[in-house]
Amino acid sequence: MKKKKYFSKKNVTQRRVTNFDSAPHAKKAEYAKVNGGVFLYNKPISVAELSKAINVPTSAIIKYLFLNGKAVTINQILDDEMIGTLCLEFGYDFKKEEPSVSAEHFEDLEIQDDPKDLKPRPAVVTVMGHVDHGKTTLIDAIRNSHVAEGEAGGISQAIGAYQKEVKGQKITFIDTPGHAAFTAMRARGASVTDIVVLVVAADDGVMPQTLEAISHAEAANCPIIVAINKMDAPGANARKVKEELLAHNVVSEEYGGDVIMVEISAKTGKGIDELLDAILLKAEMMELKANPARYASGTVLESNLDKGEGPKATLLIQNGTLNASDFVVVGEIYGKIRRMVNEHGETLKSAGPATPVAVTGLEAVPSAGDRFMAFPTEREARDIAEKRALEKRAKEKSGTSALSLSDLNNLVNAGKVQDVNVIVKADTDGSAEALKSSLEKLSDDKVKIKVLLSAAGAISDNDVSLADASHAIIYGFNVRPDARVRALAEEKGVEIHLHRIIYELLDEMKAAAKGLYKAEMVENVTGEAEVRHIYKISHVGTVAGSYVTSGVIHSGSKVRVLRAGVIAYEGKLASLKRFKDDVKEVRQGYECGLMVEGYNDVKEGDLIEGYEMVEKQ
Ligand code: GDP
Repeated sequence: MKKKKYFSKKNVTQRRVTNFDSAPHAKKAEYAKVNGGVFLYNKPISVAELSKAINVPTSAIIKYLFLNGKAVTINQILDDEMIGTLCLEFGYDFKKEEPSVSAEHFEDLEIQDDPKDLKPRPAVVTVMGHVDHGKTTLIDAIRNSHVAEGEAGGISQAIGAYQKEVKGQKITFIDTPGHAAFTAMRARGASVTDIVVLVVAADDGVMPQTLEAISHAEAANCPIIVAINKMDAPGANARKVKEELLAHNVVSEEYGGDVIMVEISAKTGKGIDELLDAILLKAEMMELKANPARYASGTVLESNLDKGEGPKATLLIQNGTLNASDFVVVGEIYGKIRRMVNEHGETLKSAGPATPVAVTGLEAVPSAGDRFMAFPTEREARDIAEKRALEKRAKEKSGTSALSLSDLNNLVNAGKVQDVNVIVKADTDGSAEALKSSLEKLSDDKVKIKVLLSAAGAISDNDVSLADASHAIIYGFNVRPDARVRALAEEKGVEIHLHRIIYELLDEMKAAAKGLYKAEMVENVTGEAEVRHIYKISHVGTVAGSYVTSGVIHSGSKVRVLRAGVIAYEGKLASLKRFKDDVKEVRQGYECGLMVEGYNDVKEGDLIEGYEMVEKQ
């Protein structure tokens, strides 16, 4: 009789480590508990969880929040401020402890591979440069160079990246050129690029977007290789390009620096081999490595909804090996991979580090820049995706994490050493340079000020995305952002400070760096209401039946009662109702009933002015 085989050799060699096996800090427990009258927690807390931990019915929690103007549901994640208020209300002290990195925060997980498991991996390259300097032509030229017979099995497909084999070694090229996509990715916490190829046209020289690309690459700590393109064009002058780059601290090897510069023509193909060699050389010096023997993790490069195949995503595997049958969490979505193909449309069974693959089988379309991780079981993948979705929603509610001068001020006061990234835009090159050096001189042992970009010109949306990705503050000197850029900055939570006098700008930064910054607050009138009827209600007080004549009146707003243009009272709203219901706000053209806290002498004909205090811009 044939002996039954329990362990096939194949199974043993193919066992992959999960992404947490060698990261001992990764599995610390999460908790939400009361200990000696203190509510301790280290994770997102829903109403139901808090209710259980502090032994207060959910209805009491929901009611309390409702009466304070916040409508929540039982499964809603509470922000820290709400948790604090609720604990105090119900007789507990509270303490949030640093969350441990757990499976659902896999982007924060620093995978610690045993050095002996690490194998060399291909470099991932992004092409950047000024418009029309030949980025797209170069990407295509590389893709089509030396296509060995039979190499490309199928028709090449645009999946967002491709791999090129050069002298038996692979290089991965990201298809989308330019720094906008690069920085958008970084703003989402994903850095996929190892090397930036900076394309500069030899007949045009260093241009504004060349400089932007340099700043973006430097902010990401990405080494640059310069491709001096269009060497075939009349008027091509490589020397001039090198000198212009030298003036911006990108120093070629022949001038004693460490930046490799290669003269090429993307059009004729001349110099492309040398450029590829240079990339291999740089990659070798960088000793890029990964561990193929673990479950895969990486980043979404592109995604779309395919009519036939459903949600489809291009994943760049950054560590580990992805198998065609793995379960993956992508962003907040999970799925079992149905089909995995390369850029030639060939079906793959597995793919290793630095490989781009297009996968189907996800339950929805993820976003570019989302991180992914593969898991051994469906249950694990589903649980983690669900937790991530909950947290994302909670985060969206609680705003952004960009650095502001007030934050910096508070961090300095808390004794934390702080690196501050700054972007300077000014009306002239001279003032941009002067501001850069004066700002950097403000650095001391507590605060390191680093100017990522200083340039002449208006504040652009690229500046805002760089600031967003690098947690930078933008300073404008004699320049202003337009409404679109301002709106983008507001959306991303990026702070823009505008000045017209150099020493005021420097004083402001100096104050923040010393922990002495006070944002100047100014008043912003949100709306006005006219009092039309007065109702005296016993045990309650005076309700002013009013009509909002302009703007918006918010519940709890600071208000001023104006009688014939004179301030009769200043305070805040105690209640704001439409008919019998409490409301958050009432807009122009609507009636409302309002009460002013501590003031019952409102009269017909009074004007109620609602206002808020905002940081002066
Ligand atoms: P991108 O905006 O940087 O992506 O630039 P493109 O790749 O679209 O190229 C802009 C223009 O420059 C196109 O008309 C190309 O044909 C041309 N071009 C690109 N590379 C070369 C080159 O090496 N030599 C010459 N003469 N023209 C080039």
